[in-house]
Amino acid sequence: MTGGKYARLFEPVRIGPVTAPNRFYQVPHCTGMGYLRPRADAAVRGMKAEGGWGVVCNQETEIHPTSDLSPSPEGRLWDAADIPALRLMTDAIHAHGALAGIELAHNGAHAANLGTRAPILAPSDGAIATLYPKQARAMDKADIRNLRAWHRAAARRAREAGFDIIYVYAGHEMTLPQHFLLPQSNQRSDEYGGSLQNRARLIRELLEETKEEVGDTCAVAFRFAVDQMQGPAGMQAEGEGREVVQMLADLPDLWDVNVSGWDNDSATTRFQPEDGYQNDYISFVKELTQRPVVGVGRLSSPDMMLSMVEKGLVDFIGAARPSIADPFLPAKIRENRVEDIRECIGCNICVASDNQGISIRCTQNPTMGEEWRRGWHPEKIAPKGAAKAALVVGAGPSGLECAMQLARRGYGVTLADARAELGGRAHREGGLSGLGAWRRVADNRLHDLRQRANVSIYAHSALSAGEVAELGIAHVFVATGATWRRDGVGRTSHGPIPMDAAMAILTPDDIMDGVQPPAGPIAIYDDDPAYMGGVLAAQLAEAGRDVTLITPAPIVSPWTEMTLEQTRIQSGLIALGVRIETGRALTRVSAESCITEGVYGEAERAIPCTCVLMVTGRQRETALFDDLTAMRAGGDIKLETLELIGDAAQPGLIADAVHSGHAAARAFEGDPQGVEAAYFRREMIALTDEGGPS
Ligand code: ADP
Ligand code: SF4
Repeated sequence: MTGGKYARLFEPVRIGPVTAPNRFYQVPHCTGMGYLRPRADAAVRGMKAEGGWGVVCNQETEIHPTSDLSPSPEGRLWDAADIPALRLMTDAIHAHGALAGIELAHNGAHAANLGTRAPILAPSDGAIATLYPKQARAMDKADIRNLRAWHRAAARRAREAGFDIIYVYAGHEMTLPQHFLLPQSNQRSDEYGGSLQNRARLIRELLEETKEEVGDTCAVAFRFAVDQMQGPAGMQAEGEGREVVQMLADLPDLWDVNVSGWDNDSATTRFQPEDGYQNDYISFVKELTQRPVVGVGRLSSPDMMLSMVEKGLVDFIGAARPSIADPFLPAKIRENRVEDIRECIGCNICVASDNQGISIRCTQNPTMGEEWRRGWHPEKIAPKGAAKAALVVGAGPSGLECAMQLARRGYGVTLADARAELGGRAHREGGLSGLGAWRRVADNRLHDLRQRANVSIYAHSALSAGEVAELGIAHVFVATGATWRRDGVGRTSHGPIPMDAAMAILTPDDIMDGVQPPAGPIAIYDDDPAYMGGVLAAQLAEAGRDVTLITPAPIVSPWTEMTLEQTRIQSGLIALGVRIETGRALTRVSAESCITEGVYGEAERAIPCTCVLMVTGRQRETALFDDLTAMRAGGDIKLETLELIGDAAQPGLIADAVHSGHAAARAFEGDPQGVEAAYFRREMIALTDEGGPS
C-alpha cells in the first residue's frame, strides 16, 4: 500500500550518499537506556523501524570521557569498546530497511564528568549546567584541536558501528558546538569568539571534517537550534539563527532544525497545546538550503505532515514523542488506519524517564521500554487462552487498557464503570486547566473498544460484589482507582492533620466534580510532588479566586522538573497572583486559617482562608475488591481470577495505571512465573573490556 492521499509521505528522499525509504524521521531522542542498557535500546529503535520510520536515530552519544554525562545513561562511543553495543542497534534498524542515525555529542559544560573526573571543557571559564560545585575551564587551542580529532575519530567509529547518518549537534544548549556559537557562553577573543563567523568556526570545522572522514558513505546531518525562544536575549530565527543557516547552507547533507532549550523543544501540551508549534520558527530554513530539512513539534496528524511537505516547509517529518507514543504511526498512515494512531498527549513522562536515568516509559504506549525486557510489541499480543470472558470494573486508564488488550486477545469483555463519563481520571483530570490532552488516553482506547463486537461497555454502572456475582463471569479485573484523601495524610504527615470542623475541606476530586469553593481566600496544601497542586492553583486563580499554595517542598510541584515544566508552572502561578509559601508544612487547620510551620524549624504561622484544598495522598478504592475477596473466601462466588490493577492497586501516574492494565491483560492465562521473571531481567555488566583511547 502506498499511503493513498498521503503517498508523498512515503517517497524516498536522498540524504547525501544515502537514501531514506520515506519521509518519516525519528530524530535523536533519549531513552534512559544508552550504554547501560544497549539491548533494550536496540529493541526500542528496531521497533520504530518495524513501525515504518524511514530514519531511526539513537540519542546524544558522548564522543569522549570529557563528555561524561554520568549518572545519566546516554549513548557512548568513547572508543572501539563501545562499537559492539551500538552495532546491536544499527542491525535492529537495518533489519527493517531503515537508515540508522547517530547524534555525536561533546557536551562541554553540560557534562559534569562526574564519573571520569576529567576536565570540564567550555569556550570560556564559567559555571556548569549540573548542580555540582565545579566550574568549566576555557579551552585552549590544543583542546580545540583535540576536540576536532575526537569528533573525527568518533565519526569513524560510528561508521564502523553501522550508522548511515552521522550528526554534528548544536542544540538544546547542551553541546560544545552550540556553546561556541552563543555569546552567552562564548566570550573568547581569538578566532573562535567575537563575530558570528568566528563563533560558528568550530561547527564549520566539525562538519567539514566529519564529511572528509565518512562523508563518502555516510550522510552528515547538522542538528541546529535556530531560536532559543528568549527573544533578543538569545539567538533568534530572524537574526543569527538565519545567518547560521545562510552561512552553512549546503555544507551539511541534512538540516535537523528545532528550537532550544529542551523545555522549548519538548514543550508539553499544558504549555504548548498546538501540535506543529515549531513550524513558524523553522519555516525559513528550506529557502536557504538545497539540502533536505527535518522539523519537529509533536507531529501526529497526517494532514499536517502532508501540508508541511506540500508547502515546502520540510522534507522529513521529524518526531521523537509521536514515535514513542506510536512506533507504528507511519505504518498506520500507509495502511490507511489513521484512526488507529495513538497520539502523544504531550505529558513528558518519556522525558522524565531520561531525566531520572531510568528506562523510557510512555503514558500512551505501555510497551515502550518493555520491548527487550518483557518482549512486548505495541501492535501484537498473544491470542486468548481457554477462558472465554472477563469482566473489567472501572473504565479509567488501567481498566480501559486492560479491557482493550483482553479484547484484542479475543476474550469476550464486559467493561463497567460507575460514572456517566468513561475514562476515569484521564477524563476527569482532562477537564482541568491545561490538561485537556489527557483525555486522548481514554479517547484512543474507547475508539478501539467501541469497534469490537466482543466488547460490551456499561457506563452508569456501579457494581457491588453481589452484582458481580450475578454476572457469572469467572475472571474479574478490578480497576476502581483511587480518590484524593481529605485527612491530610501524605508524604509529610503520616497521620491525619487536626482540623476544625468549621473549615471547608476540599479535595481535587471535589473540584473535578464541579464543587465551588466557598467565597474568600483558598489555601491549597500541596504535599504531592507532581502536577495536581499547581494545576488547581492555576485554575482557581484563572477563575479570579484568591489562592495561596502552601507546600513543604522548596519549590512548587517539584517532580515536574522531570517533565521540564517546573519553571513554567511556578512563574505562571506568580504571574496569576498566586501567593506561594514553600518550605511550610500544615500542622493544623483552625476555623479560619491553616496553621503551618517551617520545615527548617521556622516558627508557626497562620495563613487565613475560608477553605483548604488538600492535595496530599490518595486512598485506594478497594471496597469492591475486598468484598469480592471475602465472598470468594466464603464460597459465595466462584472466581478463577480476581485481580486489582491500576491506581486501586497502587496510586501513581496515569502512565503507571496504563502499564498495570496492560501487564494484567498480557499475563492473563499466561505463565505466572513469567511476570516475576521479568522483574529480574536486566542487562549484566560484562567483566571483560576496560576500553582505551583509539
Ligand atoms: P485508574 O487510574 O487505575 O484507571 P481511575 O480512578 O482513573 O483509576 O478510574 C477508576 C474508575 O473506576 C472510575 O471511573 C470509577 O468511576 C470506577 N469505579 C470505581 N468503583 C466502581 C464500582 N464499584 N463499579 C464500577 N465502577 C467503579
Ligand atoms: Fe507523548 Fe507522554 Fe508518551 Fe512522551 S510519555 S510520548 S509526551 S504520551
